[in-house]
Amino acid sequence: MPIHKKQIIEKESAVVDGIELGPDWNRMFEQRVLTDYDTSGLDKVTSVEGAESMGWCYQCTQCIPVCPVNQAGGEYGPRKIFRQLQQGMDLFTDDDLWKCTTCMNCLRVCPKSVDMIKIMPAIREEAVMEADVPAELQEAFENTFEYGNPLGESQRKRADWIQNAGVEVPIMKDKKEADYLWFVECYPAYHGRGQETSQAMARILTKLNVDFGILGTEEKCSCDSQRLAGEVGLFEEFAEYNIATFDKYKFKKIMTTDPHALNAMKKKYPELGGDYDVEHYTTMLAPMMDQLDLKNDLNIKVTFHDPCYLGRHNGEYMAPRNIIDALPGVELIEMGRCKEQSYCCGGGGGGMWLDGFMSDHVNERLSENRVREAVETGADVLVVCCPYEISRFEDAVKSTGNEGKLLVKDIAELIDEAMA
Ligand code: SF4
Ligand code: SF4
Repeated sequence: MPIHKKQIIEKESAVVDGIELGPDWNRMFEQRVLTDYDTSGLDKVTSVEGAESMGWCYQCTQCIPVCPVNQAGGEYGPRKIFRQLQQGMDLFTDDDLWKCTTCMNCLRVCPKSVDMIKIMPAIREEAVMEADVPAELQEAFENTFEYGNPLGESQRKRADWIQNAGVEVPIMKDKKEADYLWFVECYPAYHGRGQETSQAMARILTKLNVDFGILGTEEKCSCDSQRLAGEVGLFEEFAEYNIATFDKYKFKKIMTTDPHALNAMKKKYPELGGDYDVEHYTTMLAPMMDQLDLKNDLNIKVTFHDPCYLGRHNGEYMAPRNIIDALPGVELIEMGRCKEQSYCCGGGGGGMWLDGFMSDHVNERLSENRVREAVETGADVLVVCCPYEISRFEDAVKSTGNEGKLLVKDIAELIDEAMA
């Protein structure tokens, strides 16, 4: 009910329950100036569709200690961004726009659902339209547009890795139908270590007698990371292309070697008319492990890195652990930051193509922070199941001086070694 001035009785002083209240006791009815801040920066952000939740922050600070960028010395996290926005920062042109890896750890703890997974892509999309993008990210966008992959490799070479798989890898163009359409994705198709993982995966599927096929040169990037980095138009164009390609063939499920592709196909492709039963390769393989008859004792201690886009974003924590449990002679030692609380490798949300930019803003790469934690467990091998991680962590092993102490292997490589 509104309070009218004439209903208010002001007294010089009053005594309530024996306590004398000063002359200002009832002036609380008047408007008070709570801040002198220029909130135009905050208003500009919250007026963008998808970024409204930036304004819901009530500064409890729970997000700051869990933000991986902040942990690497980046002075970052939603609460810090909120305070700077209250004080006039223009996020649309500030470097803070590009530091978030969309790892989702802040959203996990935020009581107000301030959602950086929606805020960042929405504001970045505006920056992309203004061509105000860090140069190395822009190059990845252009490579994707021109070649169908962010590495800038020829589309004709996308299936070259199959030549050294040691088994036949069927192509959907020839096969037309299969139980599983394997969406390989860019890094497993082109990057040297990614190719080795794909070759191991092909041998596992063959041993399991899985009826599968790949798209080969017909496959193009899922573009989920480009979408989260603000290139929504590119994402939609490529999604429509991939959906049209899928729809040429008959299959029961899509299996993908990339959690980022999994995320796109589970959450975004249905909005564009592509509704598929899609799973990550660890989810597919975990229940099949007893069919592999693994005889080779690996005799190693391992630790496991949960990819943000398999774990927090898509809720799968146990499939990779069940695979590791089924490997003979493998002991798993968990890192302190694991499962829901896992630390980010720095590759998500466009971070894969922002290492140079980030080096000006953090004390150490996120991948270096993670590798140090893995080394502290005493493990021989850091096991991964996202194609961004193998290259990021192998570089970080070198740059932190841990060569010879820790190997980085994809989970498919370990299965393959146990089969040999
Ligand atoms: S956890 Fe949420 S409400 Fe709390 S400071 Fe961070 S963004 Fe704001
Ligand atoms: S999504 Fe991750 S990187 Fe981005 S602000 Fe939240 S915790 Fe930090």
